[in-house]
Amino acid sequence: MSAELMKGSPVSKRIRSQVKERILELEGQYGRVPGLAIVRAGEDPASVWYANSLKKAASKVGIQTRIVALPEEVTQDEFEGVLQDLNRAEDVHGIILQEPYPSHIDADRIVSLLDPDKDVDGVHPLNAGYHFLGAPRFIPATPLGGLMLLEEYGVPIKGAEAVVVGRSNIVGKPMAMLLLSRHATVTICHSRTRDLGEVTRRADILCVAVGKPGLITGEMIKPGAVVVDFGTNPVGDELKGDVEFESAVQVAGMITPVPGGTGPVTTAVLLRNVLQAFERKLGVGA
Ligand code: NDP
Repeated sequence: MSAELMKGSPVSKRIRSQVKERILELEGQYGRVPGLAIVRAGEDPASVWYANSLKKAASKVGIQTRIVALPEEVTQDEFEGVLQDLNRAEDVHGIILQEPYPSHIDADRIVSLLDPDKDVDGVHPLNAGYHFLGAPRFIPATPLGGLMLLEEYGVPIKGAEAVVVGRSNIVGKPMAMLLLSRHATVTICHSRTRDLGEVTRRADILCVAVGKPGLITGEMIKPGAVVVDFGTNPVGDELKGDVEFESAVQVAGMITPVPGGTGPVTTAVLLRNVLQAFERKLGVGA
């Protein structure tokens, strides 16, 4: 048996073209386009690469993007000052704060100072709270993209047994909340979970966001299960998921490949979130 691949690019392309079309329409009506600021500090290579690729993707759909690159030695006060300026800037509708932060920076405080209306990656406590309460405004792009992939491929979620491995605020927890909102029965696993395989084998839908290449092997997957792998781990010249693809593909019913699964959808959803922030600012959005 070989699982069906849940590829991200068809979903990603469709979202991007919808976003681009709507931005053109709004530009025609209002003479303005959405603005995005990506803030990063230090020279972490993955963070530099991601900021550049996001800027490119945003420009292609008509979002005006600036990267605010702060030095590793930026002080807390300076960082907060930059953020307050972006919060006030009329031409910035979305702000993305990229991890990792320099170790001396109080990241929780930075996140709490972000204008919730510009928090397009849904990291501010207010937006996390709205999501938790079932009235979401901005949902983190990676898990929302994961849900869109499940929906795109017609995976039944209502009543399904779903297991999420990983409990970060940016992927694991919001993914669990999204599945719960679609009426799955959800279990969340983490580094202290006893007998991980025993729990993951119960899953009809298994979502993995851990950051450990190949942690989940085929024998930890129920035959026919749907596997969403959020892991993006550079191993040598390759990008590997948190799921050991070679063994998992023999057991699962459907699986997202890495690369080419959840990654492309994340970027597209982020762009869509920026458009939503812009629409709200114009008073035309939901
Ligand atoms: P974090 O490091 O913030 O969280 C990792 C989670 O995995 C923690 O909850 C941790 O548990 C859990 N964990 C660690 N080891 C184990 C283990 N042996 N068994 C079970 N659980 C374990 O990572 P992120 O959520 O930020 O990212 C996870 C992965 O997703 C990474 O590969 C990252 O690159 C990728 N990612 C992908 C994106 C995409 O677009 N596809 C976007 C964002 C991230 P505990 O809480 O107990 O420490």
